[in-house]
Amino acid sequence: MSGNNQPHTWRDQLRVDQRLARNRAEDAADCILDPLDDQLADTTVRDYVCSNCWGHLLKYPRPGHTWLVKCHRCGNLTKGYVTKAYAGRRKSESVGDLMDVKINLESVLPGIKPRKSPDETMKDLGY
Ligand SMILES: [Zn+2]
Repeated sequence: MSGNNQPHTWRDQLRVDQRLARNRAEDAADCILDPLDDQLADTTVRDYVCSNCWGHLLKYPRPGHTWLVKCHRCGNLTKGYVTKAYAGRRKSESVGDLMDVKINLESVLPGIKPRKSPDETMKDLGY
């Protein structure tokens, strides 16, 4: 059982993600992004997130005082960027959609509740 390399906590998973991102950063052969100058790279990291997963962006130095700006999760698979404002707006819309789904499901399937408390579960089991 012990000795496997599976992450057990979010900190372990973060370390794995960071190691994978470093590996991807070192192998830039398949990266489609164009290098950016100092100012544009700083602005991009500050104001944008990954267009795929909305993860934060990191700068990687390139020859000629330029930078590649990549997602910390996607690495060389980063396809582009969206503004943080856009991602925030979409997240808010998603929360609204989730609330609509819960309301609609409750009207279609009245027996479904989002989540039962432990007391409700024990009562349902007859305790
Ligand atoms: Zn990403």
